[in-house]
Amino acid sequence: MANIRRVSFSEVSTILARCDISHRSRFAALICWELGDAAVPDEHQERSQTQKPARNKLIRRDDHDNSQSIRFTAQILFATLNVWVGVQFYLWVRWAESGGRAFEVSRPAGVEGWLPIEGLMQLKYFLITGKVPHVHAAGFFLFTSFLVISFVFRKAFCSWLCPVGTVSEYLWRLGRSIFGRSFQLPRWADIPLRSLKYLVLSLFAYAVIGMSAASIAEFLNSPYALIVDVRMLNFFRYIGGTVAWVVLGLVIASIFVQNFWCRYLCPYGGFLGLVSLLSPMRIARNASTCIDCAKCAKACPSALPVDKLLQIRSAECTGCLECVAVCPAKETLIMSVPLGVRKRRAIPAWSMAAGIAILFLGVVGYAKVTGQWNTNLPKQVYLQLVPNADEQEHLIPSEH
Ligand code: SF4
Ligand code: SF4
Repeated sequence: MANIRRVSFSEVSTILARCDISHRSRFAALICWELGDAAVPDEHQERSQTQKPARNKLIRRDDHDNSQSIRFTAQILFATLNVWVGVQFYLWVRWAESGGRAFEVSRPAGVEGWLPIEGLMQLKYFLITGKVPHVHAAGFFLFTSFLVISFVFRKAFCSWLCPVGTVSEYLWRLGRSIFGRSFQLPRWADIPLRSLKYLVLSLFAYAVIGMSAASIAEFLNSPYALIVDVRMLNFFRYIGGTVAWVVLGLVIASIFVQNFWCRYLCPYGGFLGLVSLLSPMRIARNASTCIDCAKCAKACPSALPVDKLLQIRSAECTGCLECVAVCPAKETLIMSVPLGVRKRRAIPAWSMAAGIAILFLGVVGYAKVTGQWNTNLPKQVYLQLVPNADEQEHLIPSEH
């Protein structure tokens, strides 16, 4: 039988105050105990700040952690791939805008990975009809592969692949090298701001949930949707003063606050975070060898209290392994998968990288081999639509 210990209401309050919001359900049992006089098993307890037991003796790890160099390599490779796709897409747009007189390159379908809302629509279309949409199918495959990666490896898309996440990370690293530290918003501002990305996500989800398969197909085949990627490029090519100031504000905020855009505003990351809650993989801490040095919590870019929790279940965890990299104690902090009822097995960084690469390249390779990657439209359609991209009317999708 597990040892049973009663906890006081102030102890529960202390735990909840320190805990990341997504972990609070873990402590529902504690609250139930307070209200219903139930009991709390010892293995579910978290230590309060006022009751610090004697530290464990440090058994220093003897392995060399290379997780961050592996992750940085993945980030650079994926960012380079995106730059390549971006340049090719720009040249293709210039060709279409010139009426076919400029140097001709093929349209890189990978650019559709930058259209996650369309990807969400396509996923719904696929779930209803069992068919992959013909238009911008690459977007559907990329969106699906990022969802699967987030399910298997927590929100690893954000910290291993996403070019915006990479830029964001380098900005706060730049800020840290200049100011010697990153800054955190006070808790009263942090929690409401974190919900902003879910608010934006719920607006998109509400719009997509209301669409039938027929209305999604109608939208995807509309002139507006056919060149929505060109409109996105034009948005940044001919950026207005207000938008430029907003972007500059985000860049400056990202230098001071770690992952400002991702943490507070990115609905895509919010969605992937919700998917990652279902993941069996998570960071686990062995309390019996942990020396409570708190290096893991200080290193966590998502400001999670890694040193206080036995497992990190938060939707904010991006599987970056920064906490694992700095932990000095042997076999104490691991990215893990369940093995049996109460045991977990460590997943090394190289196998995470290999898994992410296999999932990404596997899905893309499947789409290419089966001939579903490219949108096959006659050149004349693009030559007609691209020069007038910003004049296309948005089709308001009907609900039925
Ligand atoms: S808990 Fe660890 S793996 Fe998760 S975001 Fe924080 S540092 Fe990265
Ligand atoms: S880094 Fe975290 S998990 Fe590792 S010993 Fe220190 S407090 Fe414990």
